[in-house]
Amino acid sequence: MVIVLKKDISDGQKKDIRSFLKKHDFKLNEIVGEEDTVIAAVGKVGIDIRDVEILPGVSGVIPISKPYKLASREFKRDDTIIEVPNGRGQKIRIGGHHVVSIAGPCAVESREQIMEIAASVAASGAVMLRGGAYKPRSSPYSFQGLGEEGLVYLKEAGEKYGLPVVTEIVSETLIPVMRDYVDVYQIGARNMQNFDLLKKVGALGKPVILKRSYTATLEELLMSAEYLLSSGTDSVILCERGIRTFEHATRNTLDLSAVPVLRSLTHLPIIVDPSHAVGIRDKVAAMGLASVAAGADGIIVEVHNHPEKALSDGAQSMLPEQFDKMMHDIEALAPVMGKSVAHIREANSSVVKTAQNSLSGKIVCAYSGKRGAYAEQAITRYFDEQDVLSMSVDSFDEIFQAVTDGKADYGMVPIENSLAGSVYQNYDNFSRFEDVSIAGAVTLNIRHALLGVKGASVSDIKKVFSHPQGFGQCKKFLDAHKDWSLVDAVSTASAAQTVSESGLKETAAIASSVNASIYGLEVLAEDIENDPGNFTRFVVIQANHVEKAAGAKESNIAPNMASFIVKTRNEPGALYSLLGVFNESSLNLTRLESRPIAGQPWRYWFYVDAELSGIKKDAAVYVEELIKKLRLHAEEVRLLGIYAEAGRS
Ligand code: PEP
Ligand code: MN
Repeated sequence: MVIVLKKDISDGQKKDIRSFLKKHDFKLNEIVGEEDTVIAAVGKVGIDIRDVEILPGVSGVIPISKPYKLASREFKRDDTIIEVPNGRGQKIRIGGHHVVSIAGPCAVESREQIMEIAASVAASGAVMLRGGAYKPRSSPYSFQGLGEEGLVYLKEAGEKYGLPVVTEIVSETLIPVMRDYVDVYQIGARNMQNFDLLKKVGALGKPVILKRSYTATLEELLMSAEYLLSSGTDSVILCERGIRTFEHATRNTLDLSAVPVLRSLTHLPIIVDPSHAVGIRDKVAAMGLASVAAGADGIIVEVHNHPEKALSDGAQSMLPEQFDKMMHDIEALAPVMGKSVAHIREANSSVVKTAQNSLSGKIVCAYSGKRGAYAEQAITRYFDEQDVLSMSVDSFDEIFQAVTDGKADYGMVPIENSLAGSVYQNYDNFSRFEDVSIAGAVTLNIRHALLGVKGASVSDIKKVFSHPQGFGQCKKFLDAHKDWSLVDAVSTASAAQTVSESGLKETAAIASSVNASIYGLEVLAEDIENDPGNFTRFVVIQANHVEKAAGAKESNIAPNMASFIVKTRNEPGALYSLLGVFNESSLNLTRLESRPIAGQPWRYWFYVDAELSGIKKDAAVYVEELIKKLRLHAEEVRLLGIYAEAGRS
């Protein structure tokens, strides 16, 4: 039942209602809505609804309309995100904005086989390893699996590559053998309605992938999920794997419409197994991609290094290179669906505790561009130079990826230029990369110089290289030299490098003067920008679970900024009411940027920066209260960070 609470309910009344329901063995979930706050309650014993209706503070009681309760959206409005630790301090998240790929052979056949396949699927981007040790085969004469020996190999391979292990349990009698090896239990299609097995596996409290039987309706699938949820686990992942139809061209018929239909019926994550659905190796990738396009939270696929020799399901097992290609395509597709692909962080990732690079003892901060880029200067501005190693990557996306994967402790990301405006790509990256938060910010004054080879003077110059923004920002200076030809470069630093490599006196670059010493050039003219008020604001990003950098210069000032991203409700006045919360809080909003949400035309993320000046309370407590209020007016609120920024009040 769903218990609607009165608007003026006191804390004491709410506590009494909760303890009354708990006493009657109800599972509770409180949902705070814009209009009402409700408690969804599910119990095994029926009680007279009137006993609840008369409790003080209750405005009404509505029965949950579906036969499945704990699995229903009525019980829990927000998507469930299941976290599976990988033994390296990382949690693989299934559900929400994440796309996960689970891959491996149908069955574990030997130690060498699973080690080799684990290595290749991990390298291609799988985040969990699948493989059967006990195989439910249609024929008693087919390979039945290696049993416990298979589990030993599977666990060894999983541990080596940081991949949690998924394997099928076919009988409750195997629980004592399996429990030490398994991270995620799989209930196979043939056992979907083995209710005793469901109850016993649910009681283990571990995550479970529940495969849809090829003869089950979606409601039957959800009723089976209900068995698991009501027996003790909160972590059930539904898996569509094809149903039996009159069509024989494929092994089964992949019912992809199950994904959006289940999405509205349940809060549980939904994955798809295109391998068992299609049954034909070279048709699997298309359906894997289609699954992601349908909104699936992930896929589980069979991959084999020698499928022609596989002891089971060889015909549908992808070759490692087919899997690799599909993963590339999924990377490209996921942002269109407003999702990002989950990755395993490197072994011995430097972010685990110390946020220090273990080899050099230095912090590693990634930036996009070459040595001498303005972002690199921002790094040495923000961190004490001797404490930091700058790591150059090729794009803004790669900065976010490096931080997420633990390859870099921090990233230096340009967010806004005072003349050219917002760097939209990085606003978008904040909604794509959920594991990243803001640790600090730094503003750099952009000063351009004309750099030439040693011995050159301004009168020698005929050809100038720079980034188009560099030309724009030095237009007045260039207008005085109309005879120069201007050549675009990918960055100001690479312009300097080009001039250095050419060695020609007639070439010059517009770039920061620090490039002169890096590339052996001479400063021919300084401060040639039109407007000295040319600033770029960078934010320093880090993975969510890391402590603040010891080397940050700003770390000795109290937090004075908070940044959020907020998804408003799709209704009139949504933004107005959101801003009202900031208004009441007397925070000074310094930035409000809207960005379209990928895959959801005409819906937007709002990116908000606010100054925390004049707040007497602890900033974290204050912001937590603010977020609670924002949530009443927004579909989603994510705190990007509370941080110190020099030059803010
Ligand atoms: C499997 O995953 O190897 C398997 C047997 O799947 P299903 O239960 O979907 O047939
Ligand atoms: Mn199989």
